[in-house]
Amino acid sequence: LKANFSAIQDEAEEMNGFLTVISDVTEEERVERERREFVANVSHELRTPLTTMRSYLEALTEGTTWKDETIAPKFLNVVQNESERMIRLVNDLLQLSKMDNKDYLLQKERVEYIEYIDQIIDRFSLNLKEGLSLKRVLPKDRCYVWMDSDKLTQVLDNIISNAIKYSPEGGEINVTVNIERHHILTKVSDEGVGIPQENLEKVFDRFYRVDKARTRQLGGTGLGLAIAKELIEAHDGKIWAESREGKGTTISFSLPLMRKKRGRSS
Ligand code: ADP
Repeated sequence: LKANFSAIQDEAEEMNGFLTVISDVTEEERVERERREFVANVSHELRTPLTTMRSYLEALTEGTTWKDETIAPKFLNVVQNESERMIRLVNDLLQLSKMDNKDYLLQKERVEYIEYIDQIIDRFSLNLKEGLSLKRVLPKDRCYVWMDSDKLTQVLDNIISNAIKYSPEGGEINVTVNIERHHILTKVSDEGVGIPQENLEKVFDRFYRVDKARTRQLGGTGLGLAIAKELIEAHDGKIWAESREGKGTTISFSLPLMRKKRGRSS
């Protein structure tokens, strides 16, 4: 930025050209800073499970600990959980890196959305932990969306798993779908811890977590909502968060509706 100030003084009348240069440089700097932060974050996120695994394995191989029938299974369990978290993390990173590629293509097709989402909720209901309830309010009408079902399933998986993760015992999760003029609106609300107002937009950033220690314990990678956002935007949709701390969170996304076939081009 500083380097550009001399440019104004030399060519003061060319204000437009000058402004373009500034924004280019700041954009470049931002991209470079984000890239560096991303690499630092990835390294840190990978090192944490690896060092945990190493220390548990070291403890196991010391003396005869590996023969201890009470300690050994516990330590191996930790190693297993950490390696599973690493696999989740690397899979999420691969998914993001695929989406960063300009040639990334989605397999879109015409899908009846209400039946589709009904089945997704059924699947979650089957594996719901005890004490939680998952409810749905779906429209009676049929409606069609041009979408990649696998990717949309990933979006819903990420959002509903979060709602489950951050819900208190006895909490209720509601999935509501509304058909609007040009869009279909899906909302997932929970009665969990909530997200502070000032962090509402940041939760869609890569590796952002409101409470690092806590969410790591819950097995999160910090990439779920970043992936959801990219996938929704690749469907020309929008995604956003609303929340009241201590009361609950609602994650909503809208997707463009396919026009009804009326036998004429309107
Ligand atoms: P993670 O894998 O850590 O859950 P996400 O990208 O899915 O990563 O979410 C980012 C952060 O947003 C979470 O770490 C958590 O702090 C916050 N968050 C997401 N969903 C909820 C929710 N339903 N209730 C409270 N906090 C949430």
